[in-house]
Amino acid sequence: MDPLRRPLIAGNWKMNAGGSDGCDLAIAVARATTDFADADVIVAPPFTAIAAVTNELYNKKSDVAVAAQNLHWEESGAFTGEVSAAMLRVAGATWAIIGHSERRQLFHETDDAVAKKIAAANAAGLKPIVCVGETLSEREAGETLAVVERQVQAAIVELGRAGGEGVIAYEPVWAIGTGKVASPEDAQAVHAAIRQVLADANAELALTTRILYGGSVKANNAEGLFGQRDIDGALVGGAALEVEGFAKIVEIAAKLARQGKTG
Ligand code: PEP
Repeated sequence: MDPLRRPLIAGNWKMNAGGSDGCDLAIAVARATTDFADADVIVAPPFTAIAAVTNELYNKKSDVAVAAQNLHWEESGAFTGEVSAAMLRVAGATWAIIGHSERRQLFHETDDAVAKKIAAANAAGLKPIVCVGETLSEREAGETLAVVERQVQAAIVELGRAGGEGVIAYEPVWAIGTGKVASPEDAQAVHAAIRQVLADANAELALTTRILYGGSVKANNAEGLFGQRDIDGALVGGAALEVEGFAKIVEIAAKLARQGKTG
């Protein structure tokens, strides 16, 4: 972690906790992380819980922010089942996860669609968390950096428009939900390459953009990852549904940030 950037821990609840259970989970996360002010915390409930979760967090005066897990790039119209960025902003979200590998793989989202979604998020005042990452076969073919750099390049104009507010999440697909975590050194190498792509476009953007690691992050592997210079936090899936473990990840990030500032 670089003391220049505040650590960020985002919990992607996926298709879980979409009703009153989402409010309970959000409040429990807010309570459990309230002492760790050196780290930013986001929860990403399903669409159905965004408004209620936002209200609960607002009523409890919590700093925990709310992200959508996806959006549609159009503002309105005949797109049955879709939700626009502006609607999510009205519901209370201030962030949006875009291009998660489950969307790229299961719902065939292309780099082009991802760019359009980031543009829509920017226009609606949602800060994007743009996910990139290679599959196992791409890694085995030695294509990791080429794939990740292509995905970042496709997003870079819109990330530039988001300025330092935009976030990139490097999530190797083979590490998501598998219990297999990238080694801190391997993850750092990819994060450094991503930051170089940003630097080639805009030096300021490279300094300010937070790059999260995602893929089986747990309390017992977070410290090694967060100890790397270009890893600014985590996008957490499975472990985000378990309050104590998630809070521990936030605590570790906040502790390292404090140490970075003082030492
Ligand atoms: C994710 O869904 O973004 C993710 C990283 O999941 P997990 O932590 O379960 O691997």
